[in-house]
Amino acid sequence: MLSGIQPTAGSFHLGNYLGAVRQWVALQETHDAFYMVVDLHAITVPQDPAELRANTRLAAAQLLAAGLDPERCTLFVQSHVPEHAQLGWVMNCITGFGEASRMTQFKDKSARQGNDRTTVGLFTYPMLMVADILLYQADQVPVGEDQRQHLELTRTLAERFNATYGGTFTVPDAYILKETAKIYDLQEPTAKMSKSAANAKGLVNLLDEPRATAKKIKSAVTDTGSEIRFDRAEKAGVSNLLSILSTLSGETIAELEEKYTGKGYGALKTDLAEVMVDFVTPFRERTHAYLDDPETLDAILAEGAEKARAVAAETLAQTYDKLGLVPAK
Ligand code: ATP
Ligand code: MG
Repeated sequence: MLSGIQPTAGSFHLGNYLGAVRQWVALQETHDAFYMVVDLHAITVPQDPAELRANTRLAAAQLLAAGLDPERCTLFVQSHVPEHAQLGWVMNCITGFGEASRMTQFKDKSARQGNDRTTVGLFTYPMLMVADILLYQADQVPVGEDQRQHLELTRTLAERFNATYGGTFTVPDAYILKETAKIYDLQEPTAKMSKSAANAKGLVNLLDEPRATAKKIKSAVTDTGSEIRFDRAEKAGVSNLLSILSTLSGETIAELEEKYTGKGYGALKTDLAEVMVDFVTPFRERTHAYLDDPETLDAILAEGAEKARAVAAETLAQTYDKLGLVPAK
């Protein structure tokens, strides 16, 4: 099991948590899990060095606060394991230019930035992600729906390499939970909630002041009509709130629909705001506690990198050998 999160913005948002990190916490109990802060992915767009440094530690602190336990999983920073960049290069060399050009996330992100500000790194990002996954011979990759195409590319490249050079990589599956695969922007409930969202009011950051979060939920865009029912086509806003509430409270969508029969959107929002505040308040406290002790945090990451490297180095050596690269003596 392998997954990663970018340190591009300070706080994780609700989509990151429900779509990915929440599953990571559960899966560390049942799988040999590798989780990382993907700082090399973050530099595919302009970054301020001091912010990147702070955000990398902040991301690790949030992962620990969310419940990752270094005794149960391997938590590390991508750049601490140089094999990622090395295998990334190999993956670039077996990917077609047209194939890479069809990645929709690249098309979206580059369209937003314009040609002159779009880096080649952003273009080759999916192949680095492929390397991230294949290095650990992962068979499951817990991610949000937006990563499905990159997972398909991972499978394609693993199969291509295996077919060309002989069995080397495990071909992984995406692990995407239907209910939380895509959390939507609160103001624009047909768009993915994203760190790079245009409208801050639609983005629920876990580290924001809990009162501000409650306010954002109360001003979420809902739909015409007043009935509370799950219907993505007709009621995108209400459906988004229902899936968030269902996951955080443990009640099923059907139970919630029943519970809110005859009640208005206001009741749903008030309850969700309360559940959110109860969730983010201790999360923020735990995150700050980890940040207040940077030595312990760095030690956890150093130990994680060492464990990760042992596995990654083995896979890279096999890959280089299959390719015909002469080993250094
Ligand atoms: P960016 O917009 O800069 O790509 P991001 O919000 O997508 O940032 P990432 O670090 O790229 O954040 O993604 C971390 C994980 O969170 C990935 O597994 C991704 O699929 C998941 N994820 C991101 N946004 C959502 C969302 N709105 N709903 C569900 N999962 C999401
Ligand atoms: Mg993303």
